[in-house]
Formats: sequence, C-alpha cells, structure tokens
Amino acid sequence: MGEAVATTKLSPAAPDPARGRRGFLLSGFAAVSAWALHRTSVAGALQVLTPAGDVTIERFSAAGKSEGIVKLPMVVKTEAEWKKQLSAASFFVTRQEGTERAFTGKYADSHGDGLYRCICCDNALFNSVTKYDSGTGWPSFWQPIAAINVTNTPVRSYGSQYFEVKCTLCAAHLGHVFNDGPRPTGLRYCMNSVALTFVPRG
Ligand code: FE
Repeated sequence: MGEAVATTKLSPAAPDPARGRRGFLLSGFAAVSAWALHRTSVAGALQVLTPAGDVTIERFSAAGKSEGIVKLPMVVKTEAEWKKQLSAASFFVTRQEGTERAFTGKYADSHGDGLYRCICCDNALFNSVTKYDSGTGWPSFWQPIAAINVTNTPVRSYGSQYFEVKCTLCAAHLGHVFNDGPRPTGLRYCMNSVALTFVPRG
C-alpha cells in the first residue's frame, strides 16, 4: 500500500512547474504513462548495464533549451578508462555507487544559473531553477531536466523505500530520490556534487 503511494509520487513524470503539485497528481493518465515508462526504464536498467545497448535521452543547449530526443549507444568504458577520466572521488561515487560526505561537495550550497551535467558523459541532468536548499548538505533538486535522462531504481532500506538515480546515458550513480521534497513535485533528488559538473547558462 505504502509502496504504491511511493511509486506514484516517485514516478519520473516531469511536471510543468506552473501546473503545481495538484495538477501533477491529478493528471492520472500522464502519471500512469510515466510510470509505465519508468517501469520500462527500471527493467531497462539491466539493459542499461549491458554494453552496446541504445538509450534514449533528451538533449539540451547551454541555455537549457531542448534540442530534441535522441537515441544513442550507451556510453560504456572500462574501469581503467573511467579512472583515467575521473577524479578518485568522482570515480568512487559514479562507478562504485559511493556517497560523498554531507556538506563537503562544491555544489551543496551553489546558486549559479545554469545546467548540471553528468561528470562522466555530459548528459544534461538538472536545471538550476529546480535546485533548492534541502538542508541535507547535498545538492538537491525537485525535478530532473528530463525524466528520461535519469533512471530510477527502487531501493529498500530498513523498511523505507526510495530510488537510486543513475544517468541514463552512462549508468553513472548520481544519488537518490526521496518523496519528501518541496512543491510542485514533492520530490527530493539528493545528488552527489562529484557526480555533476555545473555549466553556467550560455
Ligand atoms: Fe552520464
């Protein structure tokens, strides 16, 4: 029962901020469709982890405007290649599902206008207009820039349920999403700074 509520709230539908939470929750068909998409992507998490699989993402310009939905081969690299590309902290979080210590990340208290992209593959993940101060010590957002750009996988821990959030394009572990966020979505995307790179709006 609780799970059903949680999964509905945590469906990755991307509501128009102007519509508000009520409109979002009342758009039943859209929610069901989004959940179906989510379930596909969860099932696809196995596919996502399979080298050479295609994934679908939405591309965004530096100004944050959509450049359309594209199907791309998933970004797959060896552990040695990721280690060469990333800092030790970014490798630990994104490729080994680690978590940075609270209040230590450079984006925990950042307020710049722009986009947060995947440190591994540059996939657009969050728009700064959805960033808020959650008080947790991790950069927090109430919505991804596009629902399809992240993949949410259910996690059960000590009786509570939340979702692990990964980059759809490269399967980088980014953080988790909880249903205790602010309006209009009620979601809290709790991210690791070292999994992100901020690009000021161009
Ligand atoms: Fe990525």
